[in-house]
Amino acid sequence: MSKFKVFITRPIREEIRAKIAEECEVDMWHTSAILPPIAERIPPLDGLMTYGHEPVSPEMIATAPNLKAISVVGVGYDHVHVETCRERGIAVGHTPGVLSDTTADMTMALLLAAARNIVPAYNHVQVAKEWHYYDPNILWGTDVHHSTLGIVGMGRIGHAVAKRARAFDMRVLYYKRERRPDWEQELGVEYATLENLLETSDFVTLHVPLTEDTTHLIGKAELALMKKTAILVNIARGPVVDHYALYDALKQGQIAGAAVDVTEPEPINTDHPLLDLDNVIVAPHLGSATIQTRMKMMTMAMENLLAGLKGEQLPYGVLQPNFPQ
Ligand code: NAP
Repeated sequence: MSKFKVFITRPIREEIRAKIAEECEVDMWHTSAILPPIAERIPPLDGLMTYGHEPVSPEMIATAPNLKAISVVGVGYDHVHVETCRERGIAVGHTPGVLSDTTADMTMALLLAAARNIVPAYNHVQVAKEWHYYDPNILWGTDVHHSTLGIVGMGRIGHAVAKRARAFDMRVLYYKRERRPDWEQELGVEYATLENLLETSDFVTLHVPLTEDTTHLIGKAELALMKKTAILVNIARGPVVDHYALYDALKQGQIAGAAVDVTEPEPINTDHPLLDLDNVIVAPHLGSATIQTRMKMMTMAMENLLAGLKGEQLPYGVLQPNFPQ
C-alpha cells in the first residue's frame, strides 16, 4: 500500500518526523521563508501539519483534492478555514490544554518584564555597558503585587494566568461572554464588563481566540479607556489589537507600556513603527516555547494527523474525519 503524503510547514523534532515517516511520505519545509504553494509539494497531498501562522485558505485547500487531515501544532486554529474543511469532510486537529500553563508563565514573564524594566536593564548593563555606579534613581518600574489585573477572555490560559496573579496578591477582573461563578468562587476573581475592566486595571492581558468578534477588540476607543499608567499584554493573536492604535497610544503616553508575543502581521514588518518605541516589548510568538510543552504539542499533533489520515477519531479534534457535509 502506498504511503500517505504529508507536508509539514515548519521543522519539527526529528523523532516526531521519523515516527510520522513510518507511515507517511514526509515533505517538511525547512526555511524561514514564505511557504510554497502546497499543491507543489508531493501531490496528491493527504495530510498537512501546520503552525498557527500561514493561512490555510479555501484556495489552498482546493489545490489538494485528496486532503484528509489538517493537524495544527497549537491551540488557536483561526488560520485554518474550518468551514471549507467541514464541507470537504477534512479532519482538523489542534493541541489544547497542554500549553495553558506554559503560556500563562510567559504571560507573567512579559507582564513582569514590562513592569520592572527588564529589557532596558539588559540594554543598560550588557548592551550599552553603562552601569558604572549604583544609581537609586534609574529604571523605576511599577508594582505588580497588589495591583489590578484585567483578563480579557478567560478560558484555559486565562484561568492559569488568574491563578498566578492571585499568588502575586493581585486583584483579578475578568471579561468573557459567559460568566463563570465557579471560578469566581475558586480564585476570588471578579466579573467585569470590558469597559469597566479596561478603566480599572493596571495590567490588561488578552486571551481570546481570534474570531470575527475579537478582531481589533482592542482599538483606539478601548485603549483610550485604559489608565495612563497601564500596561497591555497580548499573547492571544496579533489582530486582536489594532497595532496602529497601539502605536499611537504608546507614543502619546495614553498607556504606559505593552508587551506582545503576537503581532499583525507575523512576523511583524521590520520597519513597523512599533519596533522603534522603547515602551513596548515584542517577542516572536514564544507563548508555548518550552522543551517540555513543544514536545507534547508535536506528539499530540502527530497523533491527530495519523488518526485523521486513517479516518479515525482524532484524540484532540476540532473537526472529526468525514464530518457530515
Ligand atoms: P479557550 O480555553 O477557548 O479560552 C478562550 C476564552 O475567550 C474563553 O473564555 C471565551 O469565553 C473567551 N472568548 C471567546 N470569544 C470572546 C469574545 N468575543 N469576547 C470575549 N471573550 C471571548 O482558549 P485558550 O486555550 O485559553 O487559548 C486562547 C487563545 O490564546 C488561543 O485561541 C490562541 O489564539 C492563543 N494562544 C497563543 C499562544 C502563544 O504562543 N502566544 C499560545 C496558546 C494560545 P466565552 O466563550 O465565554 O466568551
